[in-house]
Amino acid sequence: MTVFDRIIGQEHAVTEFTHAASDAKLAARGERGDAMTHAWLVTGPPGSGRSTIAVAFAAALVCAEGGCGHCQDCRNVEAGMHPDVEHIIPEGISYSIDDTRALIERAALRPIRSSWHVIIIEDVDRFRPDAASTLLKSLEEPPPQTVWLLCAPTVDDVFPTIRSRCRHVLLNTPGLGAIAEQLSSRYGIDPAMAAFAARVSQGHIGRARAIASDDMVRLRRKEILEIPSQVKQVSNCFELAAKIVANATADADSIVGPLDSGDEADIRMAYGEGSEGKGLKGVDRQIKSAIKDLEKRAKSRHRRVLSDQYNRVLLDLTALYRDVLVVQSGSDLQLINEDIRPAIENVAAQDGTTQTLMRIDALNEARDQLFANVNPLSVFESLLVTLRQPTLSTVVG
Ligand SMILES: [Zn+2]
Repeated sequence: MTVFDRIIGQEHAVTEFTHAASDAKLAARGERGDAMTHAWLVTGPPGSGRSTIAVAFAAALVCAEGGCGHCQDCRNVEAGMHPDVEHIIPEGISYSIDDTRALIERAALRPIRSSWHVIIIEDVDRFRPDAASTLLKSLEEPPPQTVWLLCAPTVDDVFPTIRSRCRHVLLNTPGLGAIAEQLSSRYGIDPAMAAFAARVSQGHIGRARAIASDDMVRLRRKEILEIPSQVKQVSNCFELAAKIVANATADADSIVGPLDSGDEADIRMAYGEGSEGKGLKGVDRQIKSAIKDLEKRAKSRHRRVLSDQYNRVLLDLTALYRDVLVVQSGSDLQLINEDIRPAIENVAAQDGTTQTLMRIDALNEARDQLFANVNPLSVFESLLVTLRQPTLSTVVG
């Protein structure tokens, strides 16, 4: 078993990162290791597993065995609490210059437990120009033990100056067949369920696995897909919007619970508290600051998970109206939601392609509003009112 085992359909990238991790061991001893470098840019479409493979590579770098997948280092990296691996996710719409400066200062610190200090940054496309040029300086002259793993949807999303300092690893969109095959062989999921999950998740690996293995996720999908047939009165729109927000919040709470004493104990162990030569005041201070940092990251993760839940509602509804459009236009393309074809045919029969396109526009607009931090309840209320009865003004405005 290795940390790369659960990466699906990215053989080329896995080979490159495996070689890099092995050369990193040579480089750490001052020997020549050309497959390793200090700055990486991982690009791939949503759901292709950008951050999963970046986390796996980080584990391979800090694990003494090159990413065995079961030692304490590998497990701490996976759990997001290894002292030498920092995983940065944007909290707002963009990365600020102050946050970036603070990050670069932290990045320059020597690693605590291993040979490398790894910084994973998601959504590098969200750096503002001033923050990007601050980051650029550190990429140009990286501290000797620091490794930057930058993730973005495509290279075009990243400032050329940053791009040119990084070694680029391109991920593929994994095929539906590859996803279904992995769900069956690795997680023992029934082949029919695996094929269904791969199709309705549209190639998004994490989503496919959740649909295939979690009853609650399937129930939520079903509830979302029922929305178009439930928005009969305007009052239904308000009730359903409140339900969407309440469910998303409850799901985010259950995915990212508050920190418990177990997390704190893991941190103390990660810093080697109690082992020989430790237990000094400096270490204690580091532990306290690491716990504070972990709490901050848990809050940020909660925001992120909640925003993923809202996006999920929008993506499922968009897929549904795409199917409605397929039916209305008389195309023989396969439906994403083939399992609910009669319901889709029902919605399709209610009006025409113009209204369907207006609804899809409203879904895109709702996504932009959520991204701009508009209150989710008002976004969903206004969305559902439009889905119930689209009017031309929502498109023009
Ligand atoms: Zn390991």
